[in-house]
Amino acid sequence: MDQEIFLKGMSRLGVSVTEQQLQQFHTYSEMLKEWNEKMNLTAITEDKEIAVKHFLDSVLPLYTLPLPETGRMIDVGTGAGFPGLPMKIMRPQYEITLADALKKRVGFLEAVCGELNLSGVSCVHGRAEEMGKQSRWRETFDIAVSRAVANMTVLCEYTLPLVRVGGVFAALKAENAEDELNHARPMIGELGGKVEQVLKAALPESDIVRTLILIRKEKNTPSRFPRRADKIKTALR
Ligand code: SAM
Repeated sequence: MDQEIFLKGMSRLGVSVTEQQLQQFHTYSEMLKEWNEKMNLTAITEDKEIAVKHFLDSVLPLYTLPLPETGRMIDVGTGAGFPGLPMKIMRPQYEITLADALKKRVGFLEAVCGELNLSGVSCVHGRAEEMGKQSRWRETFDIAVSRAVANMTVLCEYTLPLVRVGGVFAALKAENAEDELNHARPMIGELGGKVEQVLKAALPESDIVRTLILIRKEKNTPSRFPRRADKIKTALR
């Protein structure tokens, strides 16, 4: 990754990075590129793009949204670890679960977390809508995060059942997310959530604008949610 660009971006966000954190981002980036030659992890492989579109983009919500500074976090559909793993590097006090439906990606995450010497990370091979049914996971997280997994209506059914009452879900969305958010509003209410903040944030060292959506869990999610994957998809038609 391009360290200069990364540090410039972080300083624009008003954040200083320790030598250890910088080394962790470097190792993560090297492993991402190496493993990507053997398996499909990401289309973003150029050093500057890794710094901006993966690392700075992942940590942007930490410095723009009022997220709790500690607690249990889940990244739903984390893929190669985004946004959860960069968040964990910057806030090691989070206890984080990185969940993905694809087993080979979870294998990559386990290797990276071992190499980075991170504690308080679980890499879980699982589908969000199945985890949300299990008492081990259901309504146990203080914070859920997710990027590039599904539209807001589906995404909220994946994530909100996992968040405890009083906790939050932060969705990382593209610039024009208003329509999908408005479409999702009735479902967010049914799931026990309330939209608390919709923020446009400039991604440093780029001309990209992000929409960051913060949803507060106000009530327990009714037990009929999350539905089975085929039901969630059918309901969209
Ligand atoms: N969040 C990562 C990022 O921003 O780079 C990965 C995005 S990738 C486009 C979508 C990921 O979501 C894939 O790794 C896929 O396996 C995972 N995924 C899709 N549906 C899922 C579900 N229902 N439960 C868990 N993971 C899911």
